[in-house]
Amino acid sequence: MRRFVVLSGGIGGARFLRGLRRAAPDAEITVIGNTGDDIHLFGLKVCPDLDTVMYTLGGGIHEEQGWGRAAETFTVKEELAAYGVGPEWFGLGDRDFATHIVRTQMIAAGYPLSAVTEALCKRWEPGVRLLPMTDDRVETHVLIDDGDGGRKAVHFQEYWVRLRAAVPAHAVIPVGAEQSAPAPGVLEAVAAADAVLFPPSNPVVSVGTILAVPGIREAIENAGVPVVGLSPIIGDAPVRGMADKVLAAVGVPATAAAVARHYGPGLLDGWLVDTVDEEAVKAVEADGIRCRAVPLLMTDLDATAAMAREALALAEEVAAP
Ligand code: GDP
Ligand code: CA
Repeated sequence: MRRFVVLSGGIGGARFLRGLRRAAPDAEITVIGNTGDDIHLFGLKVCPDLDTVMYTLGGGIHEEQGWGRAAETFTVKEELAAYGVGPEWFGLGDRDFATHIVRTQMIAAGYPLSAVTEALCKRWEPGVRLLPMTDDRVETHVLIDDGDGGRKAVHFQEYWVRLRAAVPAHAVIPVGAEQSAPAPGVLEAVAAADAVLFPPSNPVVSVGTILAVPGIREAIENAGVPVVGLSPIIGDAPVRGMADKVLAAVGVPATAAAVARHYGPGLLDGWLVDTVDEEAVKAVEADGIRCRAVPLLMTDLDATAAMAREALALAEEVAAP
C-alpha cells in the first residue's frame, strides 16, 4: 500500500499526518481538508484547518498551541483593536495575516480555493497533496439558545472560540454542504487510494463535515478499499478540545465505541481505540468493524508514527480476503 487518502480537521489530523509521513516516507498522501470552519474576518478568508495542516507539516506551526504560526506577533490585531475593530476573540497574528491576504487576493482574482491552497503549499512543501474538501462555500453553524426562549444559529468559530463550547449545542449544520461539490482531485484521489484513513479528528465538525459534501462518502464507500479510523476519544473524553459537546448535539456518546458506530460498518472497516478502552473492542467488532486497542496518544513523533503503522497494519488486515 502506498497511496493514502486522509480526511483531516486541524490539530489532531495535522499531528497524525506527521506520524503517517514518518511511518510511510515513500507514500503518496492526499489530504482532504475540512473547510466548514472557514470564516471571513476583516475582509479576509481564513481557513483554520487547511492552515493548521499546512503549517504543521511545513514546519511553521506554533508547536505548543497546535495552531497559528511559530514566533508570532500581534501588532495588526492590536492596531485593529485600537480602531475598535473586532472580533478580538479570534487570534490572528501578523505572520498568519499574510497567508490570509494572499489567499483572499487570489480568490478575488478568480482562483478556486483548491488552486489557492496549492499555491500556498508551494512555499510550505507539506510533503502531502493538500486539497480542500470543496471549492464551494460551506460554513458550519451551531444551533444554541438565544437567551429569549428561542434558538439561534451561530458560526462554528463563534460557538467554539468565543463561547468555548460552554453553552448547549442543539444541532450542527454544515450550511451550503448540500449544494457543494467535491474539489477537483478529491474523488480521483479516493478512487486511486489503497486505503482511506480517518485520523483522530473531530468526528462531527471535521470528518463529519467532509463526509457531508455530496459524493465524498459515496466515493469512499464504493472505492472498495480499506477505511480505517483512529479514535479521538480516549477514556470517554476528547484528548483535547471539546468534541464531546458536538457529539452530544448529534446524539452520540463521547466514547470510542459510539464514535465507531456513528461512522458505521458501511463506511468503516477498521477502528483503533486506545489501550485504556480495551473493553470497547468487543462492542465495535460486534458492530461489524475490525477493532484493535493500541496506544493512541500523540505525545511525540515516534508515538504518532507508531499509531500510523498500526492503522496501516489494520488496513492491510481488513484488505486481506
Ligand atoms: P481541530 O480542527 O483543531 O479541532 O482538530 P481535529 O478535528 O483534527 O481534531 C481534534 C480532535 O483530535 C479532538 O477530538 C481530540 O480529542 C483529538 N486529539 C488530539 N490529540 C490527540 C491525541 O494525541 N490522540 C488522540 N487519539 N486524539 C487526539
Ligand atoms: Ca477545525
